[in-house]
Amino acid sequence: MDKINADVVIIGAGLSGLSAAYHLLDQQDSLKIVVLEAKDRIGGRIKTVQLKSVGDFVDLWDVGGEWVGRAQVHLQTLLRKLNMDNFIPTETGANTPIRWTTQLDLKFLMWKLKRLKILMEQHHQTSNDSARMKQLDEITVENYITEQVWTSGSLSVIDSACRCMFGLAANEMSLLYFLMYIDSAGGLDKVTKPTEYSGKDYRVKGGLQQLAKNLVHKIGSVKVLLNQAVTNIVQNSEMVAVITGNRIQLTCGRVILALPPHQITSISFTPTLPPEQLNLLESVPLGFLVKFAVTYEQVFWDGGNNGQFGFQNVLEDPKLGAVGIVYDATSSNGNPALAGFLSPVQGDQSNDEEYEERILGLLSCILGDPARNYIDIAIKDWSKEPFNGGCFLKSLIPGTTNYLNQDLRKPFGRVHFAGTETATVWCGFMNGAVQSGYRAANEVLDNLYPQRKKLKELELSGGARPEMNIIKSISIVVFGAGLVSVAFLLLKSSRFSPSYTVSSTHIRLLYE
Ligand SMILES: Cc1cc2nc3c(=O)[nH]c(=O)nc-3n(C[C@H](O)[C@H](O)[C@H](O)COP(=O)(O)OP(=O)(O)OC[C@H]3O[C@@H](n4cnc5c(N)ncnc54)[C@H](O)[C@@H]3O)c2cc1C
Repeated sequence: MDKINADVVIIGAGLSGLSAAYHLLDQQDSLKIVVLEAKDRIGGRIKTVQLKSVGDFVDLWDVGGEWVGRAQVHLQTLLRKLNMDNFIPTETGANTPIRWTTQLDLKFLMWKLKRLKILMEQHHQTSNDSARMKQLDEITVENYITEQVWTSGSLSVIDSACRCMFGLAANEMSLLYFLMYIDSAGGLDKVTKPTEYSGKDYRVKGGLQQLAKNLVHKIGSVKVLLNQAVTNIVQNSEMVAVITGNRIQLTCGRVILALPPHQITSISFTPTLPPEQLNLLESVPLGFLVKFAVTYEQVFWDGGNNGQFGFQNVLEDPKLGAVGIVYDATSSNGNPALAGFLSPVQGDQSNDEEYEERILGLLSCILGDPARNYIDIAIKDWSKEPFNGGCFLKSLIPGTTNYLNQDLRKPFGRVHFAGTETATVWCGFMNGAVQSGYRAANEVLDNLYPQRKKLKELELSGGARPEMNIIKSISIVVFGAGLVSVAFLLLKSSRFSPSYTVSSTHIRLLYE
């Protein structure tokens, strides 16, 4: 067995694991870090593919994580640090029309959900497991919606949204988890609408895989070991040993697990994980989603279907048994494409040819026969992806949610937990992956360098000498004024968004 010593071992080279490694080295470049990845590629749930496009040229499309929201501060900041450019995608036509009665019904529903969220926050502040929280956790999204709405259209819109956002039907999800998810993103509007401060504003030039590559470049590629699926973690009060299927044994001070929760349960722990944490990890089922990208010679959908083809079209075809979202995915180089999702029912064993037929069926259903004249197509069934097994994210089944999944990120001895599902901000999104990576890295740094933690606590409590506090306050004001001026100048010249503004909430989130 090969043996390696390290300060920190990170398991998983998805966005959360790579962000954790990047942050650790950014804070303490002398640390010896090793990142172990089970697959032969980095990136996890981000994956960019090459497709043939106009004039036999090839271009790049994302079949995993793709959209970056303006309010997603952790991700935006990371992209800027790595000099990566966003672009604002084409918007053609309007969204699929929804009847006015359904729209009214949905407006009321949003208002009720907002009230419920406020109630939930009040409960959260007083007690974690209050009776009301438990009640919300025990019912499904469908149970709640059925009681609250009066049009069948609303039920179908929410069910489609759940299937497209989580890869799970509304009757499979805890209402409390649903509320937690939209709360961590700042509201349902922010998750679903392609507007300012939503989760869907930009795409990244050249695809998101480049972000993973750039992070590995910064970390140092020799520190990232591929084809190393971790099978065992053994720890005592002094150290941790991590063993991979390829019989490498790493000994280190701290471990960060940056995996989707259910993948953690395939690792054997000595001593074993506490039963309640194991139960929670096992109660996080996979979503079922297929993402596709189809390239064309030209944009034929602008104004198609009587101008109704939109940025996002939620389609449902009972004959094809498919729910889908389709959007204009024309690349930053102007190569025309459509992309979207199919949400097959769980257990669907269709192969790529069958999926292709369904996708073309759905596209031609709204756009006519030209949809079948494509140049190239990529289909990614995430339920078949090894060491991932589903997408976008894992959702909690009724009866298991501890508000904001605190138990999912509670350290276990020397083992810390990252991964988008453990995030408190934009949980489930790439931003959540970055935030969780930074948070886990900070936990590790606080443990490796206790004086760092003490300093932070002292700063937070204002524990320095009074005269020092006055000097500190003056410095903060001067520094703050300088920072605001620099930020103002930077924002004015920003190539990102002219309307991107940094609020105090954003600043707080950056340091979480
Ligand atoms: C189709 C699709 C579309 C999406 N669209 C968007 C979007 O538009 N915007 C957005 O913000 N987010 C989107 N997401 C979500 C986003 O991609 C994820 O939130 C994010 O990439 C998760 O990163 P992660 O590091 O938490 O997990 P992962 O990316 O899953 O990384 C975990 C890594 O751990 C590895 N691993 C697993 N088991 C082991 C083991 N035993 N040993 C070693 N390594 C192991 C895996 O191989 C994987 O590389 C999308 C996801 C999908 C699948």
